[in-house]
This record gives sequence, C-alpha cells and structure tokens, in this order.
Amino acid sequence: MNASFQQLCEKLSAAGVPDARYDAAELYRFVTGRDPRLDAAPTPAEAEKLAALAERRAAREPLQYLLGEWDFYGLTLKVGPGVLCPRADTEIVCEAALELLQGVASPTVYDLCAGTGCLGLAIAAQRPDAAVTCVEKSDAAWQYLTANAAGAPNLRTVQADVFAFWRTLPQGGADLLVSNPPYLTADEMAALMPETAREPVMALDGGADGLDFYRLLTGRYQAALRPGGWLVLEIGWQQADAVLALGAQYGWQNASCRRDYSGNDRAILLQKPPVLG
Ligand code: GLN
Repeated sequence: MNASFQQLCEKLSAAGVPDARYDAAELYRFVTGRDPRLDAAPTPAEAEKLAALAERRAAREPLQYLLGEWDFYGLTLKVGPGVLCPRADTEIVCEAALELLQGVASPTVYDLCAGTGCLGLAIAAQRPDAAVTCVEKSDAAWQYLTANAAGAPNLRTVQADVFAFWRTLPQGGADLLVSNPPYLTADEMAALMPETAREPVMALDGGADGLDFYRLLTGRYQAALRPGGWLVLEIGWQQADAVLALGAQYGWQNASCRRDYSGNDRAILLQKPPVLG
C-alpha cells in the first residue's frame, strides 16, 4: 500500500478535484516516473516535489499546466499558463476537418485562433501533403504555438488578430478553415470551473452572447475559401442553432452539426457554395 499516493488522492478529492484519483496518479507518475499502484513509496526528494504539485492542484490549477504537456490526436503538445488546454472534445473537430479533406490533394488549411496549435498540428501530422497555417494573437499562447510547431515541415505560424487577418488572405486560396474560437457567453464567463478560470480569458470570452467570433468567421472568411471549401467550427453545447443561423445568413451551404464524446453538439461544418454547372 502506497500511503503517499493514498494521501495525495485524499487531498485532491477533499479539494473537489474532479477525477482526483486519475490526477493523483498522473502527478505521481510525472514526479517519480513510476506507477503508484506498483510503487511502495516516493523518495524524500520526490515526496517534496509531489507535495508542491499537490498543493497547486488542490488550488485547482489545471493538471495540464502542472504536467506541462498534454496529448491531442496522437501528438504530445506543450501547454501551460497563458494558453487554452487542448481538450478531448476538440478531437471531433479535427476528425471532421480530416474527413472533409479526404480526396483533396495538397490542401491549404488555416487554423484560426490556434492556441497550442492542436488542431492545425494534428491536421498537418495526418496530412503531410497539406500546407497548414496556424494563426494566433496572444503573446503568451504564441510561445506554446511556436514551440509545438517547431519541426513540423508543413506548418507555419502567423501572429495576428483574426479580426484583421481576413483582409490579408488571397481570395479563394484555402481549402479548409478550422477554428476553436473563444465562445463562452458573459454568463458562462462569470461561472467558470476553477480550472477554466486559470485559462486565458482571451481564449474563452466570446462576447456577451458568445457569438462574436462566429459572426466574424462566417461573415468575413468565406472569400478566402475556394468554391466548395469548408469552414469547421468548434462550438459550445448550446450554440448549434445560433451558428447554423449565421451560416445560413451568410450563404454557407450543406451545414451540419457533430456531437462530442459526451453527446453534446460540438462542431459545425459549413461549405462555401461550389460552382455549379
Ligand atoms: N471548451 C471550453 C470550455 O468549455 C471553451 C473553449 C473555447 O471557448 N473555445 O471551457
């Protein structure tokens, strides 16, 4: 019986950490390199490190920030304070984008509001023939993005504000735009989970009704796509109707919505009208 590990579980659990046992095991493995279920005890030096991390996790710092990296779609990405943590639900956005790119040779792809770069990097890794551009505004997030992008031969990074970036894009040059923009409403921003409250406001705050970035992306970015190109958007679980309405308003076609692993609406797919005849 590993008493240190048991204590760690209890401490996190008492602090209200969801999945306390999972987080405890991850922290234990991170510090010791050993499986807590097979290990008798940490060394004194390890115990000290573990205690410091336990304190921070009990104060509800995201586990991802403490570990400094997190897996997304088969990649291990650097994360930390100042950038949104990659989330499993976002993998379905990635999957949708990859499906839409099937049969498109050497596609040109933009990941707008890229954060860690998880979406763009995963697409670039799955499609070595693609040319992917990750766009991010935040100075803090930019550090993670460029570190994660180092060594990806088919991906470039641009530091820019998506509210201005659309003006710089050549017309009709892109096959697919993907984005997990900030989409929380003012009400949601006022009631964040403790972990989410540690993540950057800039990555979360979608304006009063949460739709500011959807108005921009559906309204301003269609010209950048070739006819028949796709816009793939992560959305909040209550936003499907509103984003589909924006899609219709701005003349997008073949709209659909996809659910995440929990059954919540999570992605909207919109197509620029193909050329007929
Ligand atoms: N999915 C995040 C959350 O619910 C929000 C991320 C975003 O705004 N893009 O906390």
